[in-house]
Amino acid sequence: MKLYEASAKKVFQEFGLSIPKGRLVTDPLDTQKVVEEVGVPCVMKAQVLAGGRGKGGAIRFAGSVEEARETVQSMLSSRFKGFPIRRVLIEEKLDIDKEFFMGIVTDRDLESPLIIVSPVGGVEIEEIAKRTPAKVARIPVNPVFGLADYEARLAFFRAGLPSKVFPSFVDTLKRLYRVYWACEAELTEANPLVLTTDGRLICADARLNIDDSALFRHPKLKEAKIIDPEDPEALSKGRFNYVPLEGNIGIISSGAGSCMATMDLVHEKGGKPACFLDGHLTMKPGTAQAAIGLLASRPEVNVILISTYTGGRCEKVAERIIDAMKNLSQLRIPVVVRLQGRNEDEAQEILKSYDSPLLKIAKSPLEAAEMAVRLGEKHEYPRK
Ligand code: GDP
Ligand code: MN
Repeated sequence: MKLYEASAKKVFQEFGLSIPKGRLVTDPLDTQKVVEEVGVPCVMKAQVLAGGRGKGGAIRFAGSVEEARETVQSMLSSRFKGFPIRRVLIEEKLDIDKEFFMGIVTDRDLESPLIIVSPVGGVEIEEIAKRTPAKVARIPVNPVFGLADYEARLAFFRAGLPSKVFPSFVDTLKRLYRVYWACEAELTEANPLVLTTDGRLICADARLNIDDSALFRHPKLKEAKIIDPEDPEALSKGRFNYVPLEGNIGIISSGAGSCMATMDLVHEKGGKPACFLDGHLTMKPGTAQAAIGLLASRPEVNVILISTYTGGRCEKVAERIIDAMKNLSQLRIPVVVRLQGRNEDEAQEILKSYDSPLLKIAKSPLEAAEMAVRLGEKHEYPRK
């Protein structure tokens, strides 16, 4: 789970890291109050789960309340990399002397946390890491012992940072490591970590990605997650794995392998999947309806293809699909269904008994893919 910058900064603050003074706004009318609080000049930062905001115009500055209000208004009515901007973080504008990079990631090859530090952070970090890898220090940490003081100092010297930041740098890194460890993060980052002209070290940006498998141990973080209705994680509400793609055929299957195979068949027949949706259909009631409902609400999807083989009970899945189709009054697109496995004959009977022109029954994976591709071509596309 990725936290938004503002939520990540809150966590940083709890662990004693320095962050800029700031507040979130969702309504341009609140701008004045917040700007009076944080002062001018201020910086306005779009809260979206996408990087590269600095380069893409989603980080803006203002010198007056009026200017700030106009900027916030225009930000809140626009999108960034496809994400609607629903919240803007307004912060005091820091007087920056230098920008550094400080991050900790879980390195799967090393099987350990890895500290990454660079004296040249900011929006160009990817370029710098590629062009001059020597400017990036990488220090693995033994997860059993945790970050030792000498390793924090080593990070400082390896990165070749200016000596005046030594004490605050070591302190910051140790705190960031505590964030990483306590939150069971996969990644945490301060980029830029800023040295202000008056000598303070401040996390001007914050990233914190929590390991999904550990989320149940962090109910507070889970609650802090702001639900963006267009965030795929939120759309699935944890019930299935949903990855939007570029095509028009909404694929639902059980198991990642089965999903991939269905996608391959769709490609084989000349179609394009609108998503990868792995929804353990046989497991929980409500999943079928949530999955079909989600795809029915997506403007890019003009046909749904449910194709699965199950050792569970096909007739149960059939019932759940039909219940979902009955309950979803907004459903206007065809649903191709292919169910094979245990009790498949019974499932066929149940599907056939449902008299709806939207339900199309297929007998094999290939036939199902073919039907979906054909129906997708027939339907107007994109559907508005
Ligand atoms: P990102 O591009 O999405 O990672 O957004 P960041 O929060 O890292 O901001 C991008 C860049 O904006 C930073 O590298 C800084 O150069 C600049 N920036 C952000 N906050 C401030 C600030 O308070 N003062 C100044 N002068 N620049 C800032
Ligand atoms: Mn950044």
